[in-house]
Amino acid sequence: MAGQLYLVATPIGNLEDITLRAIKILEQVDIIAAEDTRQTLKLLNHLKISKTLISYHRHNEEIKTKELINKLIEGKNIALVSDAGTPVISDPGDEIVKEAIKNKIKVTPIPGACALITALIASGIDAKEFTFIGFLPQNKKNRKEKLEQIKNADNTLILYEAPHKLLQTLEDIKPNIDQRKVVLARELTKIHEEFKTGTIEELQKDIINPKGEYVIIVEKNEKTQNQIKIENLNKLTIEEHYKYYEEMGIEKKEIIKKVAKDRKLNKNEVYKKFLK
Ligand code: SAM
Repeated sequence: MAGQLYLVATPIGNLEDITLRAIKILEQVDIIAAEDTRQTLKLLNHLKISKTLISYHRHNEEIKTKELINKLIEGKNIALVSDAGTPVISDPGDEIVKEAIKNKIKVTPIPGACALITALIASGIDAKEFTFIGFLPQNKKNRKEKLEQIKNADNTLILYEAPHKLLQTLEDIKPNIDQRKVVLARELTKIHEEFKTGTIEELQKDIINPKGEYVIIVEKNEKTQNQIKIENLNKLTIEEHYKYYEEMGIEKKEIIKKVAKDRKLNKNEVYKKFLK
């Protein structure tokens, strides 16, 4: 009979943030696949668990997935852990989960600490609906696209960032979020845990030399999707704006009304322009 793959959440700082079930699974499995075996060894020593560890990280994910899937098929039970928090969330694991499902191997999540949820619940920012962005892409084009998404988002946004890139990231998102409220959740569950709230500008003044781990939470854009759409249309030339509605099959008189309304212009002014 095939074994099971357990996705075990581990602490994000405070070693006591591990569930009884997670400890039981780590004790019972045959193998623990770990993002950084040295890091996991510290946790296992703390829990007084001795177990075979296999390294499983971004750079060996493909080859190790095959190896681990074979072991699961042979009947071994495997726990996957990352350095901290919930595996798969901005951490390795998605490959092996997909392959396990393909091979009809049971995948069991063992929930626990996760930095984005830990930060969100104490941030004071609307948690009803949110988008988790994770780390912003480093590639220029992809980063620009993501920043555009941030600008238009009508729900709370959550980002991860490394301390040495925090100031650059704050600078990059600044033009897209205006005066929206931002919370920086630092060193969660650790001795120096701290929540700072303000506009990006206020936070930039406050944080000169970022240290530790950070989650960035951005309040939703209060503007409606329609207001955002109109703002974007108003950045076009008036001809492009006209064409946008024309391509939607709207008739000329109606387009002129709409363009005038969007741009807060007099209808006759717009009409004269298009008569020319
Ligand atoms: N899988 C993890 C989870 O469940 O949250 C996230 C791993 S990701 C590689 C690491 C990032 O998570 C850090 O750069 C930071 O943005 C965030 N993070 C992890 N632990 C944190 C903590 N104790 N306090 C604040 N942010 C943390």
